[in-house]
Amino acid sequence: MANNATTNANLVEATNQHLIPNYGRLPVAMVRGRGATLWDADGKEYLDLFAGFGAAGVTGHSHPAVAKTVKKMAATLQTVGNLFTNPWQVQLAQAITENAFGGKVFFCHSGAEANETALKLARLAGGLDGKKRWKLVSFHHCFHGRTTGSLALTPEKYQTGFEPLLPGCSKATYGDLDSVAALLDDETAAVFVEPIQGEGGMTVPSVEFMQGLRRLCSERGVAMVCDEVWTAPARTGKWFAYQHYGIEPDLMTLGKACGGGLPVAACVASPRLADVLQPGKHGCTLGGNPLCAAAGVATFHLVRDENLLAAAQRKGAAATQMLREAKLDKVKDIRGKGLMLGIELDAPAKDVFTRCLARGLLINVTQDKVIRLAPPLVIEDGLLAKGIDMLIEELRR
Ligand code: PLP
Repeated sequence: MANNATTNANLVEATNQHLIPNYGRLPVAMVRGRGATLWDADGKEYLDLFAGFGAAGVTGHSHPAVAKTVKKMAATLQTVGNLFTNPWQVQLAQAITENAFGGKVFFCHSGAEANETALKLARLAGGLDGKKRWKLVSFHHCFHGRTTGSLALTPEKYQTGFEPLLPGCSKATYGDLDSVAALLDDETAAVFVEPIQGEGGMTVPSVEFMQGLRRLCSERGVAMVCDEVWTAPARTGKWFAYQHYGIEPDLMTLGKACGGGLPVAACVASPRLADVLQPGKHGCTLGGNPLCAAAGVATFHLVRDENLLAAAQRKGAAATQMLREAKLDKVKDIRGKGLMLGIELDAPAKDVFTRCLARGLLINVTQDKVIRLAPPLVIEDGLLAKGIDMLIEELRR
C-alpha cells in the first residue's frame, strides 16, 4: 500500500517482485487523482491528457459525483449476482439505449468481454438472416481486446504465441469497401468495426465508407458491430461515434469510460437481436453489479447534465486550433473527432512522450508516430490549454 513513506522507487521494486510483467510499466506509481490531475508516490503532479487509457475519459479521476455514488452504494448493496432483477442495471441500460438505437443491454467488465458477447450473439443469431453463420471480419490496424475471441479479431502482432486462434476470422482494409465485400460469404456472421480506429492511429473513416459498410452488411445478412469501447460515451462529441455517419449498427460494444473509472462494459443489441441470448447462453457473475452499474448511471447523467457532448466538440476544436496555429514542422497531420485527437509526426514520437512525462504531462503514442490525446471531457479549459502549450513546446524541440 502507498503511504507517506512509500516512493516510486520502492513501489516499482515491489511491483517487479509481485506482479506478472505483462505491461511495459513506467517507473511511476500514481497514488491520487482529481479531475485531469494525478499525483505520484513522490508527490509529483501530472496533467493527464490520456485519462487512464480512456477509462477516466468522461469524469476524470475520482469525480465527486462518482465518488458519492460509489460511497453510498458500497454501504447499500455491492453485488447480488444476475439471478435477481437489478434496478441500477435497468437505469444504466435506459441511459444507453435512449441515446442510441433502442434495443437491450448485457453488462460485463471489459471491452474484450463486450466484444466476446457480440461475437457469440452474432454467431447465435446467424448474422441477420438466421442462417448458419460463424465467420467474422475485422480490419487491419484494429483493436478489439485480448481474450482469445477478441484477440482473433485483432492484428497478428498481438496474436503471436497464442495460436491456433478462433478459425474463420479475416481482416479487410479500413476504408476499402471492396476489401470487405471480397471477404463476406454465406457463412459470415459479423463485421467488427471501430468508428474511429484508436490503437490503429486515430484514423477517421469517411461517411461514405461507414454508410457503404452498413449497406453491405444489411444486403449480405451480416451483423454490423460497432466497437465503441474508445469512442463512447461522448468522447467524439456525439453520445456514440456511429452517430457521425448517419447509420445504426446491429450491435455496439462499450467499455472504458462508461463506469467513471469503475469496470463497466456492455454489449448493446438492436431490437432485432435483443432477445437472441436466452438463459444459459451467456453470463458474467459480477457484470452490472449494483456498485458499478450505479457508477455508470452517475457517469451517463454527468454527460447529460454537464452537456459534455458540446464540451467535447468545443474543447477538441480549441486544442486542434492551438496545434494548427503552432505550425509545427514535425507534425504531418492532426485528426480525430471531438476530444479524441491524433497528431501524426514525421518521426517516432517516443522522445516527445518521455520529455512530456518528465515535465508532468501524460500523453500516449500509438503506431510509433501518432500522439494520442484523450483528456477527460470535464477538463477545465485553462488546464487543457496549459497541456497543449506544454506539448507544443516539446514538439518544437
Ligand atoms: N476495443 C477497443 C476499440 C479498444 O481500444 C480496447 C482497448 O483498448 C478494447 C476493445 C479492449 O478493452 P479492454 O482492455 O477493456 O478489454
